[in-house]
Amino acid sequence: MPFSNHRLSDKLLLDILSHSKEATTVYISEELHIGFVNESMLKLWHKDISILYQRLTDVAPEFASFAPILKHVWENGELYIAEDTPANIDVDGILVERFFDFEYRPVLNEEGSVYAIINTAIDVTERMAAVRNLKSKAAHEEALKEELIASNRKLFKVQEQLSETNIDLQILVDQLTENEEFLQRFIMQAPAGLTLLKGEELVYSILNPKYQELMPGRKLEGRSIFEALPELVGTVVQDMLYNVYHNGASYNMTDSLVPLSEYEYGPTVERYFTFNFTPWKNKEGLIDGVLNLVYEVTDQVKSRQEIANLNDQLYKVNTQLNMATRSARIGTWFIEPETKALTYNTVLAEIFGYEGSEPMTYDQAIAQVMPDYREYLVKEIERAINGGGFYDVIYQQKRFNDDKVIWLRSTGQISRFNDDEVSFSGVVQDISRQRLEEERKDAFIGMVSHELKTPLTSLQGYLQILSGYAAKIQNDFAGNVLEKANKQISKMTRMINGFLNVSRLDSGKIYIDREPFNMVDLLHETEEESRTSFTQNELLFLAETPAFVNADKDKIGQVLTNLISNSVKYSPSGSTIIISCVIDGADVLVTVKDEGIGIAPVDIDKLFDRYYRVESHAMKSIAGFGIGLYLCKEIIEQHKGTIGVNSSPNNGSEFWFRLPLYHPDAD
Ligand code: ADP
Repeated sequence: MPFSNHRLSDKLLLDILSHSKEATTVYISEELHIGFVNESMLKLWHKDISILYQRLTDVAPEFASFAPILKHVWENGELYIAEDTPANIDVDGILVERFFDFEYRPVLNEEGSVYAIINTAIDVTERMAAVRNLKSKAAHEEALKEELIASNRKLFKVQEQLSETNIDLQILVDQLTENEEFLQRFIMQAPAGLTLLKGEELVYSILNPKYQELMPGRKLEGRSIFEALPELVGTVVQDMLYNVYHNGASYNMTDSLVPLSEYEYGPTVERYFTFNFTPWKNKEGLIDGVLNLVYEVTDQVKSRQEIANLNDQLYKVNTQLNMATRSARIGTWFIEPETKALTYNTVLAEIFGYEGSEPMTYDQAIAQVMPDYREYLVKEIERAINGGGFYDVIYQQKRFNDDKVIWLRSTGQISRFNDDEVSFSGVVQDISRQRLEEERKDAFIGMVSHELKTPLTSLQGYLQILSGYAAKIQNDFAGNVLEKANKQISKMTRMINGFLNVSRLDSGKIYIDREPFNMVDLLHETEEESRTSFTQNELLFLAETPAFVNADKDKIGQVLTNLISNSVKYSPSGSTIIISCVIDGADVLVTVKDEGIGIAPVDIDKLFDRYYRVESHAMKSIAGFGIGLYLCKEIIEQHKGTIGVNSSPNNGSEFWFRLPLYHPDAD
């Protein structure tokens, strides 16, 4: 049977459909009468076969929304396909939403009009659910992702902040470490002893090297202070520590005496400390120890005590000195070298006749000096200030209050304590009385010498006549005696001449009669004379090189003889005396050197003063008046020369004088 002619009958078709697994419904009218529905569709719809030939809208009002679509398909003959479409299924009176893929397929007759609609449907609810699930999962995941991103961002920010905080933290930690190190260094290098006594037991927990140095040999670390330093038990230090720990007191002690040993079991020594006790608080703010800062001031306190002692002694010495200067009537003064500001004691004010309320100035004092001496005195003062030396001047001045002319001896010295501390001070004595006595003595000696001179000259004449007579009658004995008598007369004449010279000096009557002569000649002449007059010593004259001076030969001869006779006088007999003359630079230098008793340094300066004699045991048996050297000095100085001595006790003396060499062209 040809295939094309065969048409399946509707019944057969429906049979086939009824066995189809695909859920199928066939609508056979425009009103949507159900002409066929298979088992699969009934299952889907939760209906039974009673719906057959009924109108869809009647048997399944829950599908009402589909009726218009079906009607549209009927009218237009257009296929309608839908997917994932929700439809409410009436399950025992409860509408349950399920999803379907379905199609409405029009079946056309030969005229091309619709006479049936085949509705197939597949329940895709599970798939949808899966898809939805998937979607929601995806959405959830998306949300999660977003959340993650967001939280990531947050995290990042937090991380950033954290890292910033970390940096801050690091800085803080660094600073802290630095601070700690600084603190450590501070404590360790502190120039004072520093320790922390921890807990009620006050255990040495931290102590710096300086602290340990206070007690180098003692074990402190880890021990209670009273165990380590038992000598503190029962002292005020213990009370203080108790007070700090229990009552929160603080102590600042200066120069406190704390008997303490430096070494373990060593002797307790009186030591002074400046220290501080402060309560040490823990994190909770509770006192948990004592902080102790300490440095030793024993040396300072001791030197202060010494200074106080010295000051005490100084005060006593000063008082004694004041008493001494008062009773010895010594005026003391002090001049500020730069400003010439003058300070002085009451004795000086009394000497100067200046007891007024206004202080006396340096200029006022100088103005009172008699004109003859003023320039000289000022020069000497200036010389001492500038040359850092000493001056000793005897001068006359008028007293302030009564214009009485007085003799003063003023000495002064500049002293340097260190580079910038200079003091110029000295003493003044009123020597008017001594001067008066000296003047009287001079006048008396002058008068006596003058009176003696005439008879002495006659005596010398008579002796010479007698000597001549003794020679004539060849009486040796008488000749010898007369020679000795002559020597004594010569000695006496020299003495008298000396005295006369002194009185002449004072009245300015000593005349210098200059003539150029060779000093070597004078030495030879003196040698000749000495041979008869100085027989107990060996006299050695050393003079060869001619040395000319323009001077008073007699007077210089007197000086030389005087120096030689002194050497003889103050040396043991038999010792050697060397007299020499050399040229030294622009001067002729004459020296007289002996091996005698020598001179003490204290006497050397005053040796050339008038009437000065050394007071010593050795001197007791040697006669003299103390005018010989004074005269020598006057004579030499009148010649613009200098005179001096190098000597020390028991080492002999070397007296010398210098006179300017004579230059014939210069005069
Ligand atoms: P005097 O008449 O006392 O000798 P001088 O003026 O000559 O007086 O001497 C003063 C003092 O100097 C003497 O008293 C003596 O103490 C001392 N003197 C002088 N020459 C010497 C010397 N060569 N050796 C030791 N002392 C001397």
